[in-house]
Amino acid sequence: MPTPSELARAHVPALYAYTPGLQPTDSGWVKLNTNECPYEPSPRVVAAIQEELTHGGARLRLYPSPTSAPLRAKIAEVHGVTPEQVIVGNGSDDILNLLVRVFGDDRQSTGFTFPSYSLYPVLVAIQDGGTEVIEFDRSMRLPVDRIAQSGARAFFLTSPNAPTGVGFTNAELRAVLNTFPGVLVVDEAYAPFAEENAVPLLAEYRNLVVVRTLSKAHALAGMRVGYALADPETIGLLDRVRDSYNVNRLSQVAALAALSDASYYDAIIGKIKRTRDHWAGEWAQRDWFIYQSATNFLFVEPRNAAGESGPAVAESLFKFFQSRKILVRAFPSHALTASFLRISVGTDDEMLAVDEAIQAWLTNAP
Ligand code: PMP
Repeated sequence: MPTPSELARAHVPALYAYTPGLQPTDSGWVKLNTNECPYEPSPRVVAAIQEELTHGGARLRLYPSPTSAPLRAKIAEVHGVTPEQVIVGNGSDDILNLLVRVFGDDRQSTGFTFPSYSLYPVLVAIQDGGTEVIEFDRSMRLPVDRIAQSGARAFFLTSPNAPTGVGFTNAELRAVLNTFPGVLVVDEAYAPFAEENAVPLLAEYRNLVVVRTLSKAHALAGMRVGYALADPETIGLLDRVRDSYNVNRLSQVAALAALSDASYYDAIIGKIKRTRDHWAGEWAQRDWFIYQSATNFLFVEPRNAAGESGPAVAESLFKFFQSRKILVRAFPSHALTASFLRISVGTDDEMLAVDEAIQAWLTNAP
């Protein structure tokens, strides 16, 4: 009898699963490792979920809108596009997966930069597709010409970038769109914290797809809602490969309520940006190199008390943080990222705890 692995599609046993940032199950952590929002979602979100659960949860008996129709309409209104230009997913990971299913190909490659969101190569590998990786140099500026010449069928660009936090301008995105002949997927998970976003470019470029999430700025990572804005033809293709009920009932109402409370979110986004800029300034005074962040996290290259930086220094601080139940993200596997730590912007108290830990590390580290 053949084993399940022998019966599986040939490339599957060799796949490696994406490892998300640690989600500890015990309490007491200052959790700044997955760029979640440190503040609660809008009270309207909680009220909408409670309302959906009335009558003993009777509405849960019924399937949700298969297309998330009311939510598509709301998203269209928020961004000034038509509902035919919107698709909603079970988190933006779902949307990214749909894009790879449609455009990823085993003969033509899917492109992305390094560093960027490390899920892209995993999704491409699941489809047994080829990849084209364009590495940034330390400036982390957009290598427009290399993307244009990448030969990729679709290119995934995290903008603002993760894990560096560097924002790209629409002038840079235009330069790519004017020269790259494939589909440009701009993953805007962190765009609410940036000065510019690519949505206005949709009116000009049919091959542009903008991907958003409610996991970061909207404090709904636990509800799993993301969406894409694109040309109606692209949305039609994505709808063909989507699960029929890909967004559950509670997530649909929660997202609708969140997108109906812009003033609440403007306030917390403003607060997060002020906190970010304050601590970037403080740590830069320690002579740490920090990329200018257009996101809700800081990518910092720490220096120890002897003024040294590098992978061992980053690892030392990472471990010291952990000993104090502070969780941040390290990227040790590549020279471009190994001497850095990514710290999500938390509440004032959380950031003070981080700063106190840094001071203690500087005093105690060998
Ligand atoms: N894109 C980027 C760049 C991200 O950092 C993340 C969060 N890890 C996502 C997409 C996925 O977000 P979600 O699936 O929660 O919408």
